[in-house]
Amino acid sequence: MSVEQNLKDISLQIEKSCKRFQRNTADVTLVAVSKRQPIERIKESLSLGQRCFGENIIQDAQKTWLDSGLQEEYNDIDLRLIGSLQTNKAKDAVALFDCIETIDRPKLVDALQKEEISQGKTLEHFIQVNTGDEDQKSGVSVSDLPALLDYCKGLNFKISGLMCIPPVNEPSALHFAFLKLLAQRHNIANLSMGMSNDFEKAIHLNATHIRVGSALFGQRST
Ligand SMILES: *Cc1c(COP(=O)(O)O)cnc(C)c1O
Repeated sequence: MSVEQNLKDISLQIEKSCKRFQRNTADVTLVAVSKRQPIERIKESLSLGQRCFGENIIQDAQKTWLDSGLQEEYNDIDLRLIGSLQTNKAKDAVALFDCIETIDRPKLVDALQKEEISQGKTLEHFIQVNTGDEDQKSGVSVSDLPALLDYCKGLNFKISGLMCIPPVNEPSALHFAFLKLLAQRHNIANLSMGMSNDFEKAIHLNATHIRVGSALFGQRST
């Protein structure tokens, strides 16, 4: 396993899929999911030019990116929160991340907006949609999405993308197609969907951000 070879393979797969599905490669961003990965692998990807990363837990992300000095060393990193966020962590999240992909309720919008104003920082915002209507999964329900979008609009809180994590036991392409439809319906430009096992399908269905962890960095620690 080498991060270099994996990154080459994935980049080639992205190129091939884009060609096949008539997408522009510049419109597909590889989000390298660095959660629970050894710092050496992350550093290797940085040395190869990877700059966009996804993390799902604030404290872990602070260790990897802040305490290590990596975020300061590379000033062009795009760090994205892809795990759920509690409102009492909004301050830390705004300080650390460039994009929150998991917005799913008005209270979180309030907390993020307040922090962005007080820190003088504007983040990118994606809404996570619970496309499978799973009880245990975070994300706004499909039926509550229009109201949440209206709420954001009323506050001038810009939503630039939708994100989903399909249920494990269902074909992911169905959920990608559904998220694409929702984005078109609400005139939203970006779609974060697709992981190691299904990012090619996601590219077919207009993903702009594919979140790839294990295929790039290898197995995670548990
Ligand atoms: C861990 C994680 C990924 C990456 O999964 P892989 O199968 O390792 O590519 C993508 N998205 C989210 C939200 C994750 O939590």
